[in-house]
Amino acid sequence: ELLIRQQSQLKIAQQLRQQQTLATIINKIRESLSLKEILAVVTQQVKDVLSGDRAIVFQLFDNGNSQIVEESLHSNFPNLKDLNWENEVWSQEILDCYWQGKPRIVPDVMNDIWTECLVEYSIEGQIKSKIIAPILLEAHISENHRWVETEGSKKLWGVLVVHACTEAREWQDLEAQLLQQIANQLAIAIQQASLFEQSQKEIAERKQAQQQLTETNQQLVRATRLKDEFLANMSHELRTPLNSILGMNEALQDEIFGSIKEGQLKALQIIENSSRHLLTLINDILDVAKIESGQITLELTATEIDSLCKSSMAFIKQQALTKRIQLIPRIPKYLPEIMIDETRIRQVLINLLNNAVKFTLEGGTITLEVSQVQIESSTTNLTPLNYLKIAVIDTGIGISAENIQKLFQPFIQIDSALNRQYNGTGLGLALVKRLVEIHGGNVELTSEVGVGSCFAINLPINIGSLAIEEQTEQDLSGQPQIGQSQTEGLISPLILLAEDDAANIATFSSYLEAKGYRILLATDGQHAIDLAKAEHPDLILMDIQMPVIDGLEAIKQICLDPNLADIPIIALTALAMEGDREKCLAAGANEYLTKPVKLRDLFLSIQKLLS
Ligand code: ADP
Repeated sequence: ELLIRQQSQLKIAQQLRQQQTLATIINKIRESLSLKEILAVVTQQVKDVLSGDRAIVFQLFDNGNSQIVEESLHSNFPNLKDLNWENEVWSQEILDCYWQGKPRIVPDVMNDIWTECLVEYSIEGQIKSKIIAPILLEAHISENHRWVETEGSKKLWGVLVVHACTEAREWQDLEAQLLQQIANQLAIAIQQASLFEQSQKEIAERKQAQQQLTETNQQLVRATRLKDEFLANMSHELRTPLNSILGMNEALQDEIFGSIKEGQLKALQIIENSSRHLLTLINDILDVAKIESGQITLELTATEIDSLCKSSMAFIKQQALTKRIQLIPRIPKYLPEIMIDETRIRQVLINLLNNAVKFTLEGGTITLEVSQVQIESSTTNLTPLNYLKIAVIDTGIGISAENIQKLFQPFIQIDSALNRQYNGTGLGLALVKRLVEIHGGNVELTSEVGVGSCFAINLPINIGSLAIEEQTEQDLSGQPQIGQSQTEGLISPLILLAEDDAANIATFSSYLEAKGYRILLATDGQHAIDLAKAEHPDLILMDIQMPVIDGLEAIKQICLDPNLADIPIIALTALAMEGDREKCLAAGANEYLTKPVKLRDLFLSIQKLLS
């Protein structure tokens, strides 16, 4: 009885020890996501806890190969890890047992189910007896593979084996169960490690793809800028010799260098025509390239629309007359002056009028119509912006819907008999669109083949008269307007707008002037500092990306000046980068808005800061 009690106590103690070992192993393998580390820990622990002479992990690969991937060894016995057994085949009987997740005790390896390589391997490793526990993973593999169970959803990843080499051992069932429990834990760890590895790989791949995309984009931007700069420079260089060709040609035709014959004069006239065409082409390329590479700066002046339209029409009067085309101006009497680069907008109108004459048959009409329109802005959801619309309407050949899309790209001409008749570059409309857009406006085109076309440009209006109109309207709606102070005879607040982009200048200043503020414009950081000192504005709107001195530096300098330190500053930036806000606020800005700025938000911020 005592013996039985002692034996059962011993058994309990052994069980306890094994459970503790299992817990330790589980903890250790959970700590790691590296498969190599996990396998090393497991074989080491298995060998120790089961007092084996060797523990190995055998992996079965999807291509049918198999290999010892980890080995923990008592130093007296040969190393098996680096040995290869070719054409390894396991009997179906053995595989069936493993697929059921059952461990196998082999008390005497020489009496095991034989396969040739198993014998070779047992002799090589001096193995006397062993326990083998299958490592089964949840598999999502559907292909029919010899290591993969076909019916269930388990995949035989490999086996965990403990060897006795000193003598043939009587392994206990409990020991086999423990080995199987460890193998089960190992299976989970393997699955997690491979998921982790896979996700790491995916992250790395995604990162690489992203980086490549960024690099390609940067290269593209750089290449485009270089191309435009090159075009701008080259066109400029081309104009110089062309000027002397034209000059010399003129001198020859005027017989400055002696008399010329009739035939020679004709030749000179052809040279002149071709040179002039070349010059137009180069000028247009130069303009487009300059705009694209950001080299163009607008010279904004308050412009009278009526005279601008009339002088533009005068340019094409002669051509229209020869084609018996009637020119009809429809220009309202009282129009506000608008802030535009007059030369550039004249260039736009002449381009449109020229096209209208070109593509209208004899006896047709061309109308130039001016009106004021309100357009819902995409940046302000509340207040529609006021625009001046100038439309050139012809009764010409028209343009089909599919061609309308293409027209505003450079070098696009629609094939027609009229087109072949005239020298065109296909750059005119590309230029029109870009010039209008840098003014903060847009181009509209409606056309019907055989009926005619209407090309219209919309330019933002920013004049005081409109502010009063809008203010009275909004007075009625009960909205608080800063412009009210004007009617009370007080001076409206002065806002210094530091911004170098013409389209933004046009948008901000027209909106804020319409809201009743006075605007002072600075186009770089230094200019902003100087104006702030000279005019002491009530508020500063500071763009951060500006030439000479950038906005951040300008804000810092203004805040350092005790006379200016109390002026509220709103920083505007197009680069919504992390930390930008902090940088702007640290420099001394009171508010920070990212472009595209909602004009309504801007207005509310200004109101808040000024009150
Ligand atoms: P181009 O120097 O060839 O006139 P544009 O860019 O000004 O270059 O015009 C591009 C093409 O658009 C023209 O070749 C013509 O096919 C078409 N187009 C422009 N204006 C008109 C119009 N008023 N009516 C019909 N087609 C037009």
